[in-house]
Amino acid sequence: MTNQIPAKLIIGDDEKTIALAELTLQKEFCKTKETHTDDAQQKSCFCLECRRIKSRQSPYIIWLSPEKDYKVDDVEIIFEKVSLALDEGQKFYFVLERAHTLTGTVANRLLKVLEEPPRGYNFLLLAQNQHMILPTIISRCFIVHLSTPELSKSVHPVLSFFVSASRLNNATEFEQELKRQELTDSQSQELAHQLLNIFMQTVVDAYKNCGDKEWILKQVQDDNTIFQNNNTAHQDNNTAHQNNNTAHQVSKAIAYDMQVIEYLRKALTHPPQSGSSEMFWKNLFLNWPRTN
Ligand SMILES: [Zn+2]
Repeated sequence: MTNQIPAKLIIGDDEKTIALAELTLQKEFCKTKETHTDDAQQKSCFCLECRRIKSRQSPYIIWLSPEKDYKVDDVEIIFEKVSLALDEGQKFYFVLERAHTLTGTVANRLLKVLEEPPRGYNFLLLAQNQHMILPTIISRCFIVHLSTPELSKSVHPVLSFFVSASRLNNATEFEQELKRQELTDSQSQELAHQLLNIFMQTVVDAYKNCGDKEWILKQVQDDNTIFQNNNTAHQDNNTAHQNNNTAHQVSKAIAYDMQVIEYLRKALTHPPQSGSSEMFWKNLFLNWPRTN
């Protein structure tokens, strides 16, 4: 038995995420999938199932694409559907476009079904920017990153390096970008504050939307204690252990964001001035908290 995570979060621009979602579904439901030797072939398949996927008429898929932010009514169909058990071996997919607009009550309502949907049910969440997704949702998904330029659409090119774990490793590109931008002191100050706001908003949203507020808070504190005391007592039974894992992932994300916030606040006590902008950003990048 495989331990696959039933919810996948695909990050990238709309066109690419939709294309990958379609391909994933084709690979699952295509009538002649065995005969396709590569993705290009699979994509161009014209069997009944593949055609129904492309025209959004597959009976095995519910594809949600709200014009505006998700409302509770938009996701009700998911709960109606999963209340029906699937046959052995049968698969069903929910695709949720614009998953970054899953917030508040809607997000809360979905957390459990995302984490442990009934047998055979799967989720594909599509979003442009991981940073806009609630940590409580991220922690329940397997994440697929398509190329990252979409970050620059919503975030300044210099800031985009700080909100993506993979870009944080790319010091050379960062310095090149910095040179290209030639930021003034006041631009730099403004951007640094923007960056701070991005991380504060993530934490605020996470707390606001998390049903297990106190639990998570406690986990964050426990995490700190664990780090300090190197105390690795984990003797719980299986259920408690599973719950712990989720809380642990969520709390780790929040703990990291809080570490960043503290770091940024400290850095901003010495804002760039009299032309020290480039040095400010280089130092910020160099000493930026990294997760491992
Ligand atoms: Zn096909």
